[in-house]
Amino acid sequence: MDVLISEVGPRDGLQSIDRIMPTAAKKIWIDMAWAAGLTEVEVGSFVPAKLLPQLADTAEVVAYSARIPGLTVAALVPNARGATDAIAAGAHKITLPLSCSESHSLANLRRTHAQVIEDARLIAAAIRDLPEGRRPHFEGSLSTAFGCTIEGVVPQAKVVELAEALMAAGCDEVGLADTTGYADPASVKSMIAAIWSAVGGDALTGIHVHNTRGLGLANVLAAFDAGLTTFDSSLGGLGGCPFAPGASGNIVTEDLVFMFEAMGVRTGVDLDKLIAVREFVQKTLGDEPLYGFTPLAGLPLGFVSTTQNTDIKQGAWA
Ligand SMILES: [Zn+2]
Repeated sequence: MDVLISEVGPRDGLQSIDRIMPTAAKKIWIDMAWAAGLTEVEVGSFVPAKLLPQLADTAEVVAYSARIPGLTVAALVPNARGATDAIAAGAHKITLPLSCSESHSLANLRRTHAQVIEDARLIAAAIRDLPEGRRPHFEGSLSTAFGCTIEGVVPQAKVVELAEALMAAGCDEVGLADTTGYADPASVKSMIAAIWSAVGGDALTGIHVHNTRGLGLANVLAAFDAGLTTFDSSLGGLGGCPFAPGASGNIVTEDLVFMFEAMGVRTGVDLDKLIAVREFVQKTLGDEPLYGFTPLAGLPLGFVSTTQNTDIKQGAWA
């Protein structure tokens, strides 16, 4: 694989819609996603069920998914308590969001920057206490990194400062998240360069962008050109952020996979099987709208994906 597509639909997608997907259907979705070649899935969030009843079964879904061989099971945690639950359930990767806009942090997590960073320190310490081989990968996610619906502009220097603070607190890595869809390809490149120069290239490998203003794939391509290798997306573009008004629209996994495969970059994902996952999710969610162009248009005549082209030993971009 040349890039890692991290499917966030079961978490980011489902938390944004009112309908509650039955646990059994989530398990089938995750099984199918894995069978289609997606090797990392964010399956839920350890938030109180009162806040997000859609994700109340996260512990069960994490425990189930952790038994699928070769699948990296990711979960979001709002705080140290959530991380304890995620570790107990067997998550392989835990992500603590830190909203770069402090007003958004207070609205979303009811926490100041200092409190979230203290939580990062506690989580990192708890992970260090685990036996080797059972320690989940710990990512601090820099959400609203490109701007915020409450504060507007978020200065790049602030994002860099928070990236340094998260790494100092013991995170394995930081991630960039354009929660509000404010990023553009130039700001993506400039942000990656600034963070890399502060914390090093190994400390930032992935980005989570939204398609709120139609720039989702352009922003991914900018990040890929800059050297990032992990890209979050949601099946059918399901989801957004319920706490950032107007921030809807994850990028569509089907279109993202098509873009990379068409340009000679291996994702490891089988597009036909991915479309079958979409059909299952659509059937389960009834009239909930799914997005994306590739599933509607179909694949171009004679299209051979890079992943399935055995003549290509290495992706053109590898
Ligand atoms: Zn999202």
